[in-house]
Amino acid sequence: MKKYLLGIDIGGTTVKLGLFNIDGELMHKWEIETRKIENGKYILSDIASSINSILEEKNISKSEVIGAGVGVPGPVKEDEIVLGCVNLGWSVINVSKSLEELLELPIKVANDANIAALGEMFKGGGKGHENMIMVTLGTGVGGGIIINGKVIAGINGAGGEIGHLSVNPHEKVSCNCGKKGCLEQYASATGIVKLAKEALERESCESKLRNIKEITAKDIFNFAKDNDELSIKIVDKFAFILGRALANISCICDPEVFVIGGGVSKAGDMLLDKIKQYYCENAFHATKDTEFKVATLGNDAGIFGGAKLALEF
Ligand code: ZN
Repeated sequence: MKKYLLGIDIGGTTVKLGLFNIDGELMHKWEIETRKIENGKYILSDIASSINSILEEKNISKSEVIGAGVGVPGPVKEDEIVLGCVNLGWSVINVSKSLEELLELPIKVANDANIAALGEMFKGGGKGHENMIMVTLGTGVGGGIIINGKVIAGINGAGGEIGHLSVNPHEKVSCNCGKKGCLEQYASATGIVKLAKEALERESCESKLRNIKEITAKDIFNFAKDNDELSIKIVDKFAFILGRALANISCICDPEVFVIGGGVSKAGDMLLDKIKQYYCENAFHATKDTEFKVATLGNDAGIFGGAKLALEF
């Protein structure tokens, strides 16, 4: 009888792993190091041997496991071919085929942002919604689009890469992707610091930010909460750029809910309310009532999404 699912989330530093029961309850989670030497050639075999030893330890046979869902930090095409993961040293690779051979279990693969979105739909902030968009505000801006319960990965695996929406034709600095004026150049932890530095140079007013050597996103949000005027202005600009971009996205896929996650989402209601305000001001009339929720699974979203993927076997 099949009663278990596995979720695997491969990151640049660690691989997170989860053993779930058939209801998607997390029974056991653990981590192993991501061994990136020799172009990451040991990563998948490390995962397989770690899972094998945990299953053995728990007296679970492979015949009891439905399969595993894997998140990888790179684009994954609809046919599950991974188009390279720079962080891991991988070029084009068929992760599901390789891991299936190593683990002797059915494997499904998705991009890490998309699998985190699936996880939030399954057991997190998007629970109960089959049409949702996950927005991860971290060092960059990640996204995952789920329509009718399915991730939209696209022909090139770039579906949901909302961090690289072009929002500013006047930008002179390049985004990590090589373009100029991408959403994540403003609406991420690094983006808001960039906005702050520009504001400090442009404006002559007093601000607590002027006393800080290395400004972080957290400083800006904290000072804004403390009524530092310039910090409030910066948060406002951040929320305007993001809220407006999300309103544009609603014109394309009209989700029931936006689930906001990542480190920056810890800024809480102050940020969420402002994003909502600018979203409403810019949304097409039929999409003004779209809900906004905070992601609840944190770093576990990927393994929950993996379990959800495995449920499809
Ligand atoms: Zn970009």
